[in-house]
Amino acid sequence: MTDDAAAAPICLARPLPGPGEDPGGGCAAARAVDGRPLHAAALKFFWGPMDCGKSTMALQMNYNHARQGRRGLVTTRIDRSLGPQVTTRIGLAHAAVEVTDDLDLRDLVRDAWAEGVRVDYLICDEASFYNLEHVEQMADLVDNYDVDVYAFGLATDFRSCLFPAAQRLFELADEVARIQVEVLCWCGREGLLNARVVGGRVVREGAQVVIGDTADTADVRYQVLCRRHYRSGDLGPRG
Ligand SMILES: [Zn+2]
Repeated sequence: MTDDAAAAPICLARPLPGPGEDPGGGCAAARAVDGRPLHAAALKFFWGPMDCGKSTMALQMNYNHARQGRRGLVTTRIDRSLGPQVTTRIGLAHAAVEVTDDLDLRDLVRDAWAEGVRVDYLICDEASFYNLEHVEQMADLVDNYDVDVYAFGLATDFRSCLFPAAQRLFELADEVARIQVEVLCWCGREGLLNARVVGGRVVREGAQVVIGDTADTADVRYQVLCRRHYRSGDLGPRG
């Protein structure tokens, strides 16, 4: 990068583009060879097992950006509250748009813009439960609408296989980061995998998404285990 490029102004006050319009029209920022502005919008995927604080980090990120005057939307799917909000184990909550099969994330942003509401970024919680189309829409928002997308979710399901949306995020994201809050297996090793527990036993077959919690009392619950104990199905002395 040349000194000139490094010193190029970052355009924060973007005009609101309509469908098919150049999203950067009127901005004095540097432009790529295809004429689009060289901007900093990015698709980032933050992943980790259950209980590692993903939703807490999502809301913290929303707070940090909002405090700097940026405007964003928060989306979720199958939050533990089963309502249109992001809730966290440590008691934080924030209203959120529930992502349905039919929801187009680009329409969500365009509709907000049409109402005069600026959208600089999307926070997509529980992103591993979204459809593949939603992930493509996230990439589109970054590349063609200059909107940052920060996705948070599990990487793998109870069988230790990647969720399709998580796999697509690994493939497409500009940046992928494992959330660094460690969740420990009962043995003290780092927890990595989400075991589904039914009737006190680890199950390895069934629907990919079944609502449960990590509370010990639930009929279907999930327990984060190290790889060794996930593979052996050993839930430990309290399992
Ligand atoms: Zn273990």
